[in-house]
Amino acid sequence: MKAVCKETFLIEKCDDDGCTIPNKYSRIKEGSIWNVEEDLTRIIDGEIRLTRNTKKTFHWIEITKEHFEQYFETIISHNFDCSIAKRKGCNYCLKGKRIPSTGDKRWYINENKKEIQADDENISVETIKIAYCPVCGREL
Ligand SMILES: [Zn+2]
Repeated sequence: MKAVCKETFLIEKCDDDGCTIPNKYSRIKEGSIWNVEEDLTRIIDGEIRLTRNTKKTFHWIEITKEHFEQYFETIISHNFDCSIAKRKGCNYCLKGKRIPSTGDKRWYINENKKEIQADDENISVETIKIAYCPVCGREL
């Protein structure tokens, strides 16, 4: 799972043993993309562990769920791209991105008709009626 920082914030720096370094803060920048670690390894008992590799260093932070929700937005979960543009919708319901699926049919959300449609020229078009985007949850 990946998440993007949606608002720059400061967090206390800590060393690799998990001791906070007095008066040192790291700036977590808006737009930076972090891996949300699924394993339970924790150094400072944070609820959510985020890591990020840049050319120079490996960064990690641990934050509470509350802070995660405040400062981050999940963008990739279970292979879905869940990035939401200005909270108006995701790439599937707004931009017509193909929904990951098994089989040969290509599925897309048609917002105007409130349906998911299979776009296959050989077969008559199949649709599924929806009221909410199945990826980001937005009401259509
Ligand atoms: Zn959506």
